[in-house]
Amino acid sequence: MYCKVITASRSGGIGNGLTYETGSHEVRIGDLVRVPLRSKLTEGLVVELMQTNDSEYDVKQVEEVLSRQPLLAEAQLQTAQWMADHYLTTLRQALAPWLPSPPWARFLPDRKAGYRVLNGDMSLVRGKKQVAIMEYLQGRDWVSAEELKRELEVTKTHMNALLEKRIVEEELQTVAADGTAHLDHVKGLPVLTSAQQQVADSMSRDPRPSLLFGVTGSGKTEIYAQMIVDTIRAGKQAIVLVPEILLTEHSIHRYETLLNRKSIAVLHSRLTPAARLVLWKRIRRGDIAMVLGSRSALFAPMPHLGLVIIDEEHEWTFKNEQTPRYHARDTAETLCRFSGAKLVLGTATPSMEAWVRAKDGRYQMERLPMRYKDQAMPDVRIIDLADVDFGSMYPFSPPLLDAIEAKLRKKEQVVLFLNRRGVATSLLCLECRRRVVSPESLLPFTVHQTHGGKPFLMDHTSGLTAALPARCPHCDSTKLLAVGAGTQKVEHILGKKFPQARLLRADADTMSHPDQMREMLSAMREGRADILLGTQSVVKGLDLPNVTLAAVVLADVGLSLPHFRAGERIFQLLTQLTGRSGRAKQGEVIIQTFRPNAPEILAASRHETEQYLDQELKLRAYTNYPPTTEMLRLIVRDNDPAGRARSFTVTLQKNIDALGLHVTAKCAPTFFGGGREWHILLRGTATKKALEGLNLDEVIIDVDPMETV
Ligand code: ADP
Ligand code: ZN
Repeated sequence: MYCKVITASRSGGIGNGLTYETGSHEVRIGDLVRVPLRSKLTEGLVVELMQTNDSEYDVKQVEEVLSRQPLLAEAQLQTAQWMADHYLTTLRQALAPWLPSPPWARFLPDRKAGYRVLNGDMSLVRGKKQVAIMEYLQGRDWVSAEELKRELEVTKTHMNALLEKRIVEEELQTVAADGTAHLDHVKGLPVLTSAQQQVADSMSRDPRPSLLFGVTGSGKTEIYAQMIVDTIRAGKQAIVLVPEILLTEHSIHRYETLLNRKSIAVLHSRLTPAARLVLWKRIRRGDIAMVLGSRSALFAPMPHLGLVIIDEEHEWTFKNEQTPRYHARDTAETLCRFSGAKLVLGTATPSMEAWVRAKDGRYQMERLPMRYKDQAMPDVRIIDLADVDFGSMYPFSPPLLDAIEAKLRKKEQVVLFLNRRGVATSLLCLECRRRVVSPESLLPFTVHQTHGGKPFLMDHTSGLTAALPARCPHCDSTKLLAVGAGTQKVEHILGKKFPQARLLRADADTMSHPDQMREMLSAMREGRADILLGTQSVVKGLDLPNVTLAAVVLADVGLSLPHFRAGERIFQLLTQLTGRSGRAKQGEVIIQTFRPNAPEILAASRHETEQYLDQELKLRAYTNYPPTTEMLRLIVRDNDPAGRARSFTVTLQKNIDALGLHVTAKCAPTFFGGGREWHILLRGTATKKALEGLNLDEVIIDVDPMETV
């Protein structure tokens, strides 16, 4: 027999494994082995078993099998292989999220010392203690040292005497998790409404992935809770993914009343490597019933995975932006298929990808069109910022300030959504509502305020600078306004206007650890704060019953980026916004925007989600954009990215023409890379084929990219 082994040491050129002969060892897929590599021994993971040697070289033999049971289950390895194939990485790269950094032997279960009888000859046994030990061991295969110490107060000296006479032998064994542990994981049951119960039942019956399309406040979390309990009672485990580490703090609240805290593992990137290792082993042993975490929690080594839930399925954070550049949704779909587990994707605003799959039957779909207890959706007001006279209050319009004041008077709470942190200020024409763009990159210029000097424009992708124009280059209007405001500026203005109000600011600066999020949430729940001011990523998803006003200060963020997903993203944001308000009593929502008639803004304000999704899907089909076509991005970095990207595009185009493919290839600087990166975007029906035969060593491949500006 032969096996393919991914070695832990990172030697170049063997990212897809080396072939070894198994020799006399019994080797299973997923085993950790020690193998010779060059002149040394190294550890490796067995990823494939083969009858014949597929290598053209003479192969060496496996030296030792280190694991008693496979480190990774077959379904997990199959998923890693799928990731390597789909995202065009090596198998080693695809395995990285599953197995944290080597040495992998650290992940083997801890083994305990114990004893068994080797020779039943009692004539060699001396003294009461030795007799007691022998009687205790008789008829049992193996007893741990711990148990002997506990029951008979046995010391090492007693045992050594027996060991020396070769009456007993010592052996290290992995102590398996108690097979009945799952019976005491659950501590409180959800009580579903009949509509919710029907949805839960019909999802459980269908083996396909399910899209749970329920309006904000419809009780999706309660349905998850029911399905998690059912899974655990069947002796299996569940993984729940949330879009953002900080939101694990919010969700854990609900799950702690459902399961014992020690049955839940929260996985996020702020864990120390030591804490992560301990959790990894507990999960692998089967002690953990449910893992809650951000996208990488999908790779938790659950021994009997029964359910994966992706909450807020549409969120961009489910895409990993480093190799392997996987999407948690597609990877979860694959993992569930190989593990026989159920996948549930929950959202109030399905992604286009999920929507198209629900429409063509690849996903089963369940709708929850009403809020829990038929609580009304909030009233939504759109404020056209082009008509507002801000005075010194930019970016607050008078109606928004009035509404905040009214809520403060009634002792209700307010949530304000802000731009993503770091989104730059740009120069907007209030007449034609376009942004002033750089002739170099065609992306909006950033307005820079200098200390003392005059403000100027800068194109971060090319370094081009320009003076602030007096007139709009498109329509010649003089009504130009620098728009965009960060959290700090907004906090300052609010503080001046409402000195009595207790303000909380939540952005990546004030909130870097889940503990800080916990404190902020309890301050809001306990009424110790009046206004929560936060970036979208922090504020979305919160369930705070006393919030009756939610507002977005500037809904246009990202709108002027030439991004085919910009509309979808704004729609999701605004729907999230409406979801924060009036969850327990009538609420309102205010949207401040420079584009009051944009279709996504109108649809969100009217709660017309399906109409918007269908319309947007038609548009994508008409313009040949995903999800109706494939997309692939090549990222070019380091020296002369522009020159290299341009010349690579020419080569690529020749390949596309020669193969007769329906693929377009374009290159441009990336907005996200700040000018130091260029990307080549391929769009069409066989984008991977277009790469055939090309040397890809100098580019980073991103399959199904999200950041495509
Ligand atoms: P979603 O995730 O769909 O936005 P949630 O699950 O957060 O909705 O539910 C909204 C609110 O309604 C929560 O405060 C939740 O506790 C409550 N709720 C929903 N369904 C039930 C139920 N069956 N029993 C008790 N409370 C419920
Ligand atoms: Zn103009």
